[in-house]
Amino acid sequence: MKADKLIIGGTVVSKDSTYKANIGITDGKISHILAPDVKIDADEVVDVAGKYVIPGGIDAHVHFEDPGHTEREDFTHGTAACAVGGITTCILMPIHDPIILNLDTLKTSMDCYVNRGYVDYAIHGGLDASSLKDTRDLWEKSGIATVKVFMCQSSPNMGFVDDATLYEGLKLIADMNAIMTVHAENDSIIKLFEKKAHDAGRTDAMSYNESRPAFGEVEAVRRCIYFAKITGATVVFPHISTADALIEIHKAKEEGIKVYAESCGQYFNFVADDMKKYGPFLKFAPVMHEEDNKERMWDLLAKGYVDTIGSDHSPYLKEDKEKAIDDIWKSPNGIPGIEVELAWLLDAVNSGKLTLENVVRMTSYNQSQIYHLPGKGQIQVGYDADIVVVDMNLEKEFSEKDIKAKNKWSPYIGRKFKGWPVMTFVRGTLVAKDGNLMINEGHSKYISRAK
Ligand SMILES: [Zn+2]
Repeated sequence: MKADKLIIGGTVVSKDSTYKANIGITDGKISHILAPDVKIDADEVVDVAGKYVIPGGIDAHVHFEDPGHTEREDFTHGTAACAVGGITTCILMPIHDPIILNLDTLKTSMDCYVNRGYVDYAIHGGLDASSLKDTRDLWEKSGIATVKVFMCQSSPNMGFVDDATLYEGLKLIADMNAIMTVHAENDSIIKLFEKKAHDAGRTDAMSYNESRPAFGEVEAVRRCIYFAKITGATVVFPHISTADALIEIHKAKEEGIKVYAESCGQYFNFVADDMKKYGPFLKFAPVMHEEDNKERMWDLLAKGYVDTIGSDHSPYLKEDKEKAIDDIWKSPNGIPGIEVELAWLLDAVNSGKLTLENVVRMTSYNQSQIYHLPGKGQIQVGYDADIVVVDMNLEKEFSEKDIKAKNKWSPYIGRKFKGWPVMTFVRGTLVAKDGNLMINEGHSKYISRAK
């Protein structure tokens, strides 16, 4: 018995257990899981005594604007942020230029990413009112992870679907045994509150947050759950921002409706009032809500109501945000967040709010199951050696120099977290260590969903 690499001395965490083990890696895959006192021959031994070993993070919600506005983010910088943040697979949203609505535009994107990244990646396709005719081919003749739609105008580049298209789309999704990612907010309610803000001449930061009330999300989630129920379609709700919507999704699941909830760090680390301090640098959609909602979200996070955590990493130039300091409506929607994604969750483990098993389920295992990513999400023999070593005792303030994304700003700068990823292995290769990249770009591999 011999392995290429042996990771020794660590404590392995799975979705439901924690145990000491040595892990052998051969040809990029996990080849051995050994008792802590058993060592085999290996070309390289990595001693991680005192640290935890978790399945690599899977972030199913990143916007890299590549091809397109690569000055905001590109595939290379985005996947570098993943590498240092302990994310070994990301799933790219389809809203760049061109938007992925058919096989041609999917090919444009896929060609663009070859040999340019640090971590593995899958891709979401998209559907708008004009592209329903192309959706069957897009799903059946490719390995895309899901088909994304908007129930409201959210991205300036991509149209949203009315109820008729949502219904038709969900019927098609059910027929193909596919998955739809649904940005659920009520478009008319947003437009109503936007008009109120504009009529009142408001340009302050809070006026934006007030234009997207919590009930607009809850209503849209409820409507889509009902459509999912009558069509039988599987739906993932990304970036859920309200405790009430999490409860609706949980109730639906208990009824046997195939729905899942993703949420993001911004809803657990910030509240609406923070807009007064950060303004455009916290402008995204759905918005943050009140302190009380945040507390309830934390409670539901610990209880398993959140299936997956994504970053919704969607950066812009600092200048794009700065020009909106006196008029929030001039700011584009989106913030970065990949580098701290595991850290804020690990910090919550240290403060007793979550367990490490919880974190593994929400950052890796559940994604691998929901999105059918072969070889991902578990530390098991035969799986890809996507492994993250975390130091639960490392306490560090996040600063500009920790940012590997293209634009060097983040609302998390100055936040202190205890518990950080310190080594990231993608298919057995150490891609990042202690916040530094260890290889050149080009290691990334496209992951097609399992069929
Ligand atoms: Zn998004």
